[in-house]
Amino acid sequence: MLQHTSEPSFRQSVDMMFTRAVALMDLSPGLEEKIRVCNSTYTVRFGVKLRGRIHTFTGYRSVHSEHMEPVKGGIRYAMSVNQDEVEALAALMTYKCALVEAPFGGSKGGLCIDPKDWEEDELERITRRFAYELIKRDLIHPSQNVPAPDMGTGEREMAWIADQFARMHTSELNARACVTGKPLTAHGIAGRVEATGRGVQYALQEFFRHPEDMKRAGLDGSLDGKRVIVQGLGNVGYHAAKFLEEEDGCRIIGVIERDGAIFDPAGLPVERVRQHLIGQGGVRGFPGAKYLAEGARLLEEDCDILIPAAFEAAINLTNAERIQAPLIIEAANGPVTAGADEILRRKGCVIIPDMYANAGGVTVSYFEWVKNLSHIRFGRMQRRQEESRHRMLIDELERLTGKSVSATFSEKFLKGADELALVRSGLEDTMRGAYQSIAEVWRARPEVTDLRTAAYLVSIGRVAAAYKSLGL
Ligand code: GLU
Repeated sequence: MLQHTSEPSFRQSVDMMFTRAVALMDLSPGLEEKIRVCNSTYTVRFGVKLRGRIHTFTGYRSVHSEHMEPVKGGIRYAMSVNQDEVEALAALMTYKCALVEAPFGGSKGGLCIDPKDWEEDELERITRRFAYELIKRDLIHPSQNVPAPDMGTGEREMAWIADQFARMHTSELNARACVTGKPLTAHGIAGRVEATGRGVQYALQEFFRHPEDMKRAGLDGSLDGKRVIVQGLGNVGYHAAKFLEEEDGCRIIGVIERDGAIFDPAGLPVERVRQHLIGQGGVRGFPGAKYLAEGARLLEEDCDILIPAAFEAAINLTNAERIQAPLIIEAANGPVTAGADEILRRKGCVIIPDMYANAGGVTVSYFEWVKNLSHIRFGRMQRRQEESRHRMLIDELERLTGKSVSATFSEKFLKGADELALVRSGLEDTMRGAYQSIAEVWRARPEVTDLRTAAYLVSIGRVAAAYKSLGL
């Protein structure tokens, strides 16, 4: 990705956005500084003997704010991981958790590694060794610091981390709550894998429930038929695009991936594109679509909704001016640099910011953590009881009217909520509530001209209130 050399780093970018927001708040300078800074960043270098020699790896775990504990945030595996990035991401976690009222401080971790360079058993040894280094310093712990997946990691890595913790804390009853995003078969929760993409869908649905907000982006109508371009068909981009296509009737006209982009104004079938991507390692050659080798160019194409779901700084000073989308939803963390944000605001583009848009992941992580601490699956106690009460109601209704309810109604109404249904309901409620708290500020305060500043105002306000009640 081409980024202007004069652009600030990711952490500076987050700081600049923070500064813009606090200028509109009445915080004491001391408290403002306390919230802004990253509390600590631990760097570890460790060696693992692989393929006949010792390889040294560098990893980080940064804690941005401990106004609530445990602190929460994913672990990323990428060659580009560095301290600046981990600290920026940890800060975003603080604001994200505050916004969706997940009772956590913010943290983030990363390991400089290209997972594709290693076999599965090698990755397991590296992950367990990294986890060991963090666990022995309580940087992974159910009541102190709870990681989750991020770029380059997933359920598999989280299961290894959980197992490593359990081996080092054999009598810890809550050991499995030391990490979230685990597989369902290893104490995970239904709906965690889809959660971030699902959250993006709920965020858009909520935005489209408010014509006055849509008008600020020059949009009207419903999501049905809206033209969407998505950058990155990884876990987040894939689920967001798939749900928007299959459930909301959006047309996914463009998909940008590492090897280029594909474009079809009639709409691309997301599931088939994803299968092609997995099978071929790229989008090139997808039948019936136009292929562009210079994929990032497609960010600049005419569309209704642009979803950057890949990496930070994808929209920067080099391309911001040419972006045509009236609405951008930041499914990735930090995909728009501070400079690009300013240009886009000037152009009237509405940006649904990362700290809200991709908060679905940590929201469902929160549910998983609660599930692990309560040692019981959501819905286990009430599901059948709910079903039998509904059965009684249908039977009585049919007896009183002498008519039968339709089979489809009866099937839907009788089905007691299982864990997946409850997780989705909790996530939808969270995403809708969080949007309303941001949009209220956006609508009520004329000096707040964008949703990002509104989101910062809400979350910084909550973090400040937590610090004040701690006596700071
Ligand atoms: N890595 C995800 C994020 O950036 C999830 C974090 C979590 O679930 O703790 O939000």
